[in-house]
Amino acid sequence: MEIFDVIGKKASEAYKITADKTGKIAKETKLKLRMGELKTKINTIYQEIGKKVYEKHVREEEISIKEELEEQCTELDVLSDEMDNLLTQCLELKDKKQCPNCYAEIEKQVNYCPNCGTKQEKLKDVEEKEIEFTSDIKLEQSIEKKDEKKEKTTKEESKENNNLDD
Ligand SMILES: [Zn+2]
Repeated sequence: MEIFDVIGKKASEAYKITADKTGKIAKETKLKLRMGELKTKINTIYQEIGKKVYEKHVREEEISIKEELEEQCTELDVLSDEMDNLLTQCLELKDKKQCPNCYAEIEKQVNYCPNCGTKQEKLKDVEEKEIEFTSDIKLEQSIEKKDEKKEKTTKEESKENNNLDD
């Protein structure tokens, strides 16, 4: 039984390495593309806000921009959230994290930021939340299912053995 567990683990690790090589680069490219799109959108909204504020305050036009500004600020918040999310995913792909003080890209394992020297908190949750490829998850699920089946068979076998003993 233990031998099967070890083989299962090794196979899934080997699969992960292959998936890393083929999937990571493509995934990073996709993330960067989306980040570029977001940046453009964010900049456009900033420009629009700037224009409105200019028209309202500098030209003293009699228009209410409050509602429109609120709408655009909400949109900015949403886009910024997505941007943060993509950035985190990008760092996870490279197995790196961002220093909370200077925002430099640093290795996950370091205790102190090499850029600014800030002590780094151990982020256990983040490490465990590694980005999994869908196929990886499927593979792991199927391994788990096999384990369940194995347990069931063992139980059934022991039942049968008990019956035989009776
Ligand atoms: Zn730093």
